[in-house]
Amino acid sequence: MKARVSVEKETCIGCGTCSSLCPDVFELSEDGQAVVKIEVVEGELADCAREAKESCPTGAISIEEVS
Ligand code: SF4
Repeated sequence: MKARVSVEKETCIGCGTCSSLCPDVFELSEDGQAVVKIEVVEGELADCAREAKESCPTGAISIEEVS
């Protein structure tokens, strides 16, 4: 199933956990916050994006299932 990934700028503290766990989907931008490189993911990328969401200390990552 496909998933749409987003990061809430107001909540992200730039810890880098998501970009370490799932560098194909997340990266830290120059302003020190996470940005999403691929918005709609599936398969292994969706799995690691979900792992990153669960590991994010501030709950800044949202994942919405899309069909
Ligand atoms: S894990 Fe959460 S707080 Fe840390 S950089 Fe990623 S989105 Fe931001």
